[in-house]
Amino acid sequence: MEFTIAKATLELIKGDITEVEADAIVNAANSTLLGGGGVDAAIHNRGGPKILEECKRLREKEWPDGLPTGNAVITTGGNLKANHVIHTVGPIWHGGVHEEPKLLRRSYWNSLKLASMKELKTIAFPSISTGSYNYPTEEASIIAIKAIKDYLEKEDKIKKVTIVLFSNRDLDIYNKAAIEILTAK
Ligand code: ADP
Repeated sequence: MEFTIAKATLELIKGDITEVEADAIVNAANSTLLGGGGVDAAIHNRGGPKILEECKRLREKEWPDGLPTGNAVITTGGNLKANHVIHTVGPIWHGGVHEEPKLLRRSYWNSLKLASMKELKTIAFPSISTGSYNYPTEEASIIAIKAIKDYLEKEDKIKKVTIVLFSNRDLDIYNKAAIEILTAK
């Protein structure tokens, strides 16, 4: 589905984020920035070694203890169609009472902020934290869409945000949340 938010478009699609053409795709990384499973592994596999080299450099120079949850950093897109990868660390779900909603919102927000700072116009997100980090997808989808809405209403440099869902079930959940949040009743 497609929605208009201020001067931008939000698009929800099913697909593989490593195949998406955008100024940046977002990686649901872990704090080591040195690779993991799920979408992180897919991005490094398709993007090639340049991405990991830059991640290692960022660890050495800026984040020796790892990237804190909710923060975001940017690297090349290597061999991907996307020019850049924005790596963010979403929260691990521990029942929802350990600031998970706030931290998940921060991951989306800081990724968008970094994209704006770099003058990027199109950005694609996966469903951050809802894989191995166990964040319930219904709750995560509401936070993702609200964060994107609030950001795009405040700042108009970004023209298009895509959320790339890996299953029909996830796409249905995100579409439902978007209709609820973005369609005037
Ligand atoms: P996290 O550790 O933040 O939970 P995961 O990579 O385990 O991150 O999962 C996040 C979401 O990304 C899950 O919904 C998973 O199904 C999805 N995913 C995995 N591979 C891809 C891919 N290539 N493109 C888009 N989404 C993907």
